[in-house]
Amino acid sequence: MAASNLDRSADTAVRILVTGGSGLVGKALQWAVAELETTDVRFQKRPGEEWSFLTSKDGDLRDLASARAIFERWTPTVVIHLAARVGGVFANMAYQADFLNDNLAINQNVLRLCHEFNVDKVISCLSTCIFPDKTTYPINETMLHDGPPHDSNFGYAYAKRMLDVANRAYASQHGRKFTGIIPTNIYGPYDNFGEGSHFVPALIKRVQAARENGAENIQAAGSGAALRQFIYSRDIARIIIWMIHEYDSAEPLILAGDADSEISIRQAIDTICKISGFAGRVEWDTTKTDGQLRKTADNAKLKSYLKDFDFTPFETGVKETVEWFVENKDGSECRL
Ligand code: NAP
Repeated sequence: MAASNLDRSADTAVRILVTGGSGLVGKALQWAVAELETTDVRFQKRPGEEWSFLTSKDGDLRDLASARAIFERWTPTVVIHLAARVGGVFANMAYQADFLNDNLAINQNVLRLCHEFNVDKVISCLSTCIFPDKTTYPINETMLHDGPPHDSNFGYAYAKRMLDVANRAYASQHGRKFTGIIPTNIYGPYDNFGEGSHFVPALIKRVQAARENGAENIQAAGSGAALRQFIYSRDIARIIIWMIHEYDSAEPLILAGDADSEISIRQAIDTICKISGFAGRVEWDTTKTDGQLRKTADNAKLKSYLKDFDFTPFETGVKETVEWFVENKDGSECRL
């Protein structure tokens, strides 16, 4: 260990710092820590843990001095690294260089400071949308670097892939327990329903507006044929809590539902329309891209640890998300 690293030998406290604590996944973790009712100890926070949730107002993690000030203030022992420049397919296509630069800077700063401050464990967030474009399915954790990502998000994808490279490098050189999760498309309460939003929140917002305005149809991009696996943000939160206590490998873990969780965009829209009470037609704009036609991710490794994990069904998660949106869309908590 480098001599300059923080000496924590007499420090037995557990201080868990969540970067990106105000985002979709960060808010789900806040819910899991404060409100989750479960008798399953694997998903419960442990007595004595101090949890802190950062927003960008606490400091810009792209800037090393700001990031260092955060670590000096909180001296975390565990870091859940969620902060990222995140966006849907069209935002990614328009701002490739920004997605690359911002995410490279954030990730490099956070991991080097986790090393400097002697953090015991780091769990960073990657994404299944960074996997190779041309590959065989289902895709698993070993195939992350096997070919270029899809053109539509190569800036974001290569920046995120470097997190995995960094985790292995810190493990190899310093014996660090820095690891990554690779979730499929996430949705849930507190999602971004505004500019650059992902498919589910964008659709929920559009369908709600159509219903309220008595519209007869809505437009959807692409053909509806692309297949996607959606995972509820609160499922991710429960798995992260388990990982903090039980998962020590630098090798990343795909967070995906079971095989039946893969549905077409058309099925997803039908579900959102049904739950929202919108009975109009969906018009498909086939001049717009579908993105990758499928990117089925294999959850076998996750299930080897948590074989009985009860994923939230898409209908249930969408219902809770729509209810949250309807209740909060006029409030300050909702990103519109
Ligand atoms: P999100 O809702 O967009 O939230 C992003 C978070 O990062 C916010 O808390 C934001 O703070 C913070 N942040 C952004 N730039 C920052 C900066 N320069 N300095 C400090 N904080 C900054 O993101 P999310 O959807 O929860 O995603 C969490 C993680 O999951 C990300 O790493 C993302 O790449 C990954 N992921 C997301 C999806 C998905 O479908 N959403 C899928 C797979 C993986 P403010 O609120 O203050 O702006």
